[in-house]
Amino acid sequence: MDASPNFRETRFDDVTVLASSHGGAFPHGNTVMVTGSQARLVIDPSLDVDHDPVGADAVMISHAHEDHIAGLRHFTCEKYAHHADVAGVRSLQVLLDGYGLTPAERLAVDEQIGDQFALPDGFPEAIGVGDGHTFDLGDVRATVIHLPGHTAGHCGVLIEPAGFLYVADIDLSSFGPMYGDVGSSVDEYLTSIETVRAIDARWYGTFHQKGVIEGSAEFRRRLDDYAEVILRREQRLLEFLDRPRTVPDIVAHRLVYRPHVDLPFVDAVERRTAQLHLERLVAHEQVIETDDGVFVLT
Ligand SMILES: [Zn+2]
Repeated sequence: MDASPNFRETRFDDVTVLASSHGGAFPHGNTVMVTGSQARLVIDPSLDVDHDPVGADAVMISHAHEDHIAGLRHFTCEKYAHHADVAGVRSLQVLLDGYGLTPAERLAVDEQIGDQFALPDGFPEAIGVGDGHTFDLGDVRATVIHLPGHTAGHCGVLIEPAGFLYVADIDLSSFGPMYGDVGSSVDEYLTSIETVRAIDARWYGTFHQKGVIEGSAEFRRRLDDYAEVILRREQRLLEFLDRPRTVPDIVAHRLVYRPHVDLPFVDAVERRTAQLHLERLVAHEQVIETDDGVFVLT
């Protein structure tokens, strides 16, 4: 394998993680490589990957976000993503549609992605796969596990017999789960957290800062803290509904980002997050929407 100054390689049995030398914070991330007796699989080639380091036979993209496809242009092999996200891998414009931006926000985000990533217009050859799709690498199997919530097609990959579960952007960061896209869902995110919690693995790999967690007990402890952030946001929203509020009021108040954060996609993420929590609260009959788009506690 070629050495690169951009990352640090760590082996976990048949799995090698290329840990970002930038700590894994967006736009960077950790790339996973799986080496079997017959074939090699790369998962989520990051911005730090500037060539195909292993002669990959396939690349699996966990979901259609720019940081997870940042290094994909260096691979000539077949490229895969879940059916629900593959259109965003095939086309950068579809990927951008997924953020639900206003025209002005879209221009700013498009420009920021252009500055940070040298992405082509898309990978039209990308192939859609479903939950349970298995990459047979000879003596190693890599099985796709659909974990929607972050995006509709967000997936993890379970590598056996090593016992390495890649959980992608269920990233265990203190920031908490992100569900600010058009295809995001709080309830699906919570279900996906339960799905990964139930899998006994030896290692759990995340794409961002936390890297690889060893042991299911430690993983589940961190997963609890991570899931807790969802409930804290909902609590923050309930407290803010001390009087009638509109979605723009909630966007300005912010449930996700701190007040000083000034990025072109912040309002879009806040808007979608507020909508999703409001939908949950309405479904649970804790909040009602009056006909003029004002939300009040029941
Ligand atoms: Zn993502």
